[in-house]
Amino acid sequence: MSNLTPKERMKIARQKMPERAADERNKDFKEVNIGMKEEAATLEADRCLQCKDRACIAGCPVGIDIPVFLDRISEGDMEGAAKVLLDANTLPGITGRVCPQEEQCEQVCVRGKGKGVAVGIGYLERYVADWARENLDIKQILAEPSGFKVAIVGSGPAGLTAGGELAKKGHDVTIFEALHTAGGVLVYGIPEFRLPNKVIESEVDRLRQMGVKIICNVVVGRTFTVNELLEEEGFDAMFIANGAGLPVFMNIPGENLKGVYSANEYLTRSNLMRAYEFPESDTPIVRGDKVVVIGGGNVAMDSVRTAKRLGAKEATLVYRRSRQEMPARVEEAHHAEEEGIIFKLLCNPLRYLGTEDGWVKGVECIQMELGEPDDSGRRRPVPIKGSEFIIDCDVAIPAIGTQANPLLTATTPDLKVNRWGYIEADEDGATSMPGVFAGGDIIRGAATVILAMGDGKRSAAAIDKYLRETKKAPTKAGAAAS
Ligand SMILES: Cc1cc2nc3c(=O)[nH]c(=O)nc-3n(C[C@H](O)[C@H](O)[C@H](O)COP(=O)(O)OP(=O)(O)OC[C@H]3O[C@@H](n4cnc5c(N)ncnc54)[C@H](O)[C@@H]3O)c2cc1C
Repeated sequence: MSNLTPKERMKIARQKMPERAADERNKDFKEVNIGMKEEAATLEADRCLQCKDRACIAGCPVGIDIPVFLDRISEGDMEGAAKVLLDANTLPGITGRVCPQEEQCEQVCVRGKGKGVAVGIGYLERYVADWARENLDIKQILAEPSGFKVAIVGSGPAGLTAGGELAKKGHDVTIFEALHTAGGVLVYGIPEFRLPNKVIESEVDRLRQMGVKIICNVVVGRTFTVNELLEEEGFDAMFIANGAGLPVFMNIPGENLKGVYSANEYLTRSNLMRAYEFPESDTPIVRGDKVVVIGGGNVAMDSVRTAKRLGAKEATLVYRRSRQEMPARVEEAHHAEEEGIIFKLLCNPLRYLGTEDGWVKGVECIQMELGEPDDSGRRRPVPIKGSEFIIDCDVAIPAIGTQANPLLTATTPDLKVNRWGYIEADEDGATSMPGVFAGGDIIRGAATVILAMGDGKRSAAAIDKYLRETKKAPTKAGAAAS
């Protein structure tokens, strides 16, 4: 442990994340944050007081031993820090970039109490993950092959994490993914300027090196049903992590006009299908001069910042509550403002207006005010009578949420779902079908990367227990044949 006294640690100010200038970065898709240098990372880690109650560990859904991790960095032992990190977290380069740390580990950090500023745990996670990618070839230690085969549906953060954890326990893991690339929302939703593809590819490659098979272009519920995988394809257990990717619309007039995209389609075209590189890539996208995005979460932020980068002169975010209630990560909202995004707060769309040939030309909105708190605890937005006004636009993107896709559950009658179509699961992810577990957005509704990863980790432990306790241990021959 570095020999600084608590008083000396308290004197160190939080180190800044270097980032590209706003008026340069809002024109391309290169990453906004540049990443810390070693000296700043070590100083930041020195700010940790190594407190006894270690609340930060409980604040992390995958349980990284944060004080030990920070201590290794403080000592300049980056390899040791990387080992602590990778031991608990399968995707640290990703979580270091997209986790809402201010609501998790950093929220409970003692240095953040009162007027203090929490240790930059997320920045350091990113620093060490990037360092490890450049400098280390960490071989995960895998248990002896168990002979059990586990199928995973979906290669988002929940599926990838469960895959890594199950492989460590010696199981033969196959992930089935509907799209042509692994990563789930990480590749089709979150843009390159926040999470570069090379980071995702490298973390997915590490899983492949651990023996996890990823088979793309397989839609479970169509190509195979859940029952077929279990009864005919020889899988002993299953983890369903197919996310909640079905867009929600507002059902207001004009939603079918040309130029109105769901955020999912818009971001998938731009990110996964590389439309921002058109005509070098095959995928076209309408590049509006005036783009309106509706919503206040990360999806809305990503869409409006993408529109700006695609050349919009006016990229406007319309959100029905105030800045304080915005669910987007604090850093994303801050970056969006710096990049010239116009925030129309306390404002709700009523209908889209169209041209004679069916293109969107505007959104009629109404001004809102905040009333009493609703079920979410946030103050309910209430329309102000007579305050209607029009925002001109040539592209409009509702980004107001997503829901469960019924494709898999509709073909699995024994799988219990709730009234919104999400799979019912207990805290280990066990569902109504023996040997079938589920986690991530398909049990929670749209949530976060790290919560999906926490589910994947918990379910992997429960699947391991289920296999060892309730399934007949395969013979050596059976194990070899599997
Ligand atoms: C644009 C956007 C930005 C976001 N930003 C953040 C952020 O900054 N920080 C954060 O913490 N969270 C963020 N989130 C939320 C976060 O990405 C999700 O909560 C998380 O990805 C959920 O993980 P998952 O593994 O449950 O599902 P997903 O990531 O949705 O992965 C599910 C996978 O299953 C596949 N699939 C679906 N159906 C089938 C099927 N029938 N057969 C085979 N495969 C199937 C899908 O193609 C997909 O690859 C964002 C979400 C979006 C959309």
